[in-house]
Amino acid sequence: MKEQLETIQKEALEEIKKAEELKELQGIKVAYLGKKGSLTQVLRGMGKLSKEERPVVGEKANQVREAITKSLDEETANLEKLEMEKQLEKEAIDVTLPGRPIKVGGAHLLTQIIEEIEDLFIGMGYEVREGPEVETDYFNFEALNLPKGHPARDMQDTFYITEELLMRTHTSPVQARTMLEYEGDKPVKMICPGKVYRRDSDDATHSHQFTQIEGLYVDKHVRMSDLKGTLDIFAKKMFGEDRKIRLRPSYFPFTEPSVEMDISCKVCQGKGCSVCKGSGWIEILGGGMVHPNVLQVAGYDPDIYTGFAFGMGPDRIAMLKYGVDDIRHFYRNDIRFLQQFHQA
Ligand SMILES: [Zn+2]
Repeated sequence: MKEQLETIQKEALEEIKKAEELKELQGIKVAYLGKKGSLTQVLRGMGKLSKEERPVVGEKANQVREAITKSLDEETANLEKLEMEKQLEKEAIDVTLPGRPIKVGGAHLLTQIIEEIEDLFIGMGYEVREGPEVETDYFNFEALNLPKGHPARDMQDTFYITEELLMRTHTSPVQARTMLEYEGDKPVKMICPGKVYRRDSDDATHSHQFTQIEGLYVDKHVRMSDLKGTLDIFAKKMFGEDRKIRLRPSYFPFTEPSVEMDISCKVCQGKGCSVCKGSGWIEILGGGMVHPNVLQVAGYDPDIYTGFAFGMGPDRIAMLKYGVDDIRHFYRNDIRFLQQFHQA
């Protein structure tokens, strides 16, 4: 029996040495020390031994158990360490690999232009106002001196939601709304940027949706020269200090007199080229002195108050400033186009 125990110990220790995984060690433990393990089997046979033999074999069996247990513990610790090392190796970070770039978005070019214009006018004491894109016929047309049936409405055909509700054709309704809010006894100095809509067929220079910024300054003693000075500052800040401006007589139902403003062509310095169609000038915006009817409807006494208003298209300004040849680029969401204008 003693020999049997020695064989068991020898075999067990050899197997433990050969084991390459923790699972195997677990199996060895069960095979030798478990309830049905070979060491247990031998010990069961101890009943047949004589009184003298029993303690000797018992002691030997304990030594064998201890030796196997000790060897199992050592090998388990060993393998655990190895597995940990393997795991760490697997998870090691290769610092020589190129990093994954973080994609940074940017504001849409039109948003950038609008924000630039906002900053400029805020610096001159204007407030920025917003209004609804779904507007009433009253605010979009009637309050701006465009009664029903007025021929100038043809130029601003739009999408009607009902007879009285429509997609606004300009940002001008915000002017009327603001004046009403100020109740006819406070100066108004505001700009209103936003999206506007027209029933236009889309082409390189027309879009059924585009952006506008309007400005309005109403106070006592506001003069045409104030408008000219303001627009001159705007042109120089947006297009360069060497730009000249020119005001041409024009017609808008809500201003009288009305003007259109051109800036001198940057490409030819006013000599005439294909960009300015030979004229040396490029049309930028429209404006004028607020029509007395518009002031009156909004609650301002035209005998006391005067004002100027102007409106411009950030789409057109962006096209001129960056040489964009098709307005539809702004609305197609083509990332290749848009990301050219991303600012860090
Ligand atoms: Zn030119």
